[in-house]
Amino acid sequence: PLADLPEVESDSLLQLITLCAADPRPEKIDVGVGVFRDGAGNTPILKVIKRAEEILRETQETKAYLGMQGDKRYAELLRPILLGPLADDARIAGLQTPGGCGALRLGFELLALAIPSARVHVGTPTWPNHPPIIRAVGLEVAEYPYYERGQGSIRFDAMVDALSAANAGDVALLHGCCHNPTGADLDEDQWREVARIVAKRGLIPFVDIAYQGFGRGLDEDAFGVRLMLETCDEVVIAQSCDKNFSVYRDRVGSLFVKTGSESATALAMKHVSMRAREMWSMPPDHGAACVRIILDDAALKADWLVELTAMRDRINAVRQRLAAADPRLAFIGRQWGMFSMLPLSREQVLKLREDHAIYMADSGRFNVVGLSDDQIDRFTAAVVEALNG
Ligand code: PMP
Repeated sequence: PLADLPEVESDSLLQLITLCAADPRPEKIDVGVGVFRDGAGNTPILKVIKRAEEILRETQETKAYLGMQGDKRYAELLRPILLGPLADDARIAGLQTPGGCGALRLGFELLALAIPSARVHVGTPTWPNHPPIIRAVGLEVAEYPYYERGQGSIRFDAMVDALSAANAGDVALLHGCCHNPTGADLDEDQWREVARIVAKRGLIPFVDIAYQGFGRGLDEDAFGVRLMLETCDEVVIAQSCDKNFSVYRDRVGSLFVKTGSESATALAMKHVSMRAREMWSMPPDHGAACVRIILDDAALKADWLVELTAMRDRINAVRQRLAAADPRLAFIGRQWGMFSMLPLSREQVLKLREDHAIYMADSGRFNVVGLSDDQIDRFTAAVVEALNG
């Protein structure tokens, strides 16, 4: 009976939100949150999204079903942004999903169907939601070393060794850019080396790209995705517009699949559509429709790029301020995206919470733009104090 269900271990990041909300100290700092905030500490709706919503309200004539693939024009318009010069490759097909999470789930459903014995190699650490999604489709999770917290650097040799020992048909899960939770991205030479190994070993790269445009720029952030597509016949990509259009709760993502031939890709997409049908039938329309309206209009697209650039510039400016505060924080300035991981023990993280009302994940992961401009100095002072032990 339902009454016999086991207890659920609640998500520690969700717990953190509850704890922070309950803290009465007005000076509290929430760097646990996983959304972009501006200098004043807000997560505003982009002006260009507001405009697209107006257009949608004025022009939408029906709410009839769109079908399992969602908004096809939306997925088509994403191609040049994600795929760049490979946008016309007919062996790559994509469809709309409910956010990046939906894309991850659907991509792994496809892999589980095609290669039930595949092991999925994930870096340590990775986004905590990756392993449960992989296990939910019945695939096995294996780990490769990725990041050394104390040194602020990628454990590249160990990563290469682990992937070199993987079996043909296994999957290598890679973060396209702005690694969550560490901020440490592969550089271009490292991407080339990983692509070489993946191709040589016959692994399938699964690239999760949830923050395109939050690192160096739209094209620069897609380097790894495009390299894998150039190098490998079979690639799976989970993409999200939730961050770069700031539409988190509207659940806007896409799944792209490449195989060795147009017909094999078409068949894969039929399977993907059936899996989508079983899970959510079709994705929610509103957010993707807004993204489609923006990308389909040169002026609105230009407006979006301005707002996206402003978000990216703030992330990188805060990173530089934090990096300049202490040599032990310099690594933050060499990383990308919203997240970074401080070399603090769990006890030190808890002490920051108690003494300074600073809320970050137990792992030391924090969101650099969780800080409003007026919180940065107080934050760095408290962190430096903690590092001094
Ligand atoms: N992948 C990574 C690495 C993420 O950090 C996130 C969001 N936190 C997602 C995927 C999922 O994004 P979405 O909210 O679009 O489902």
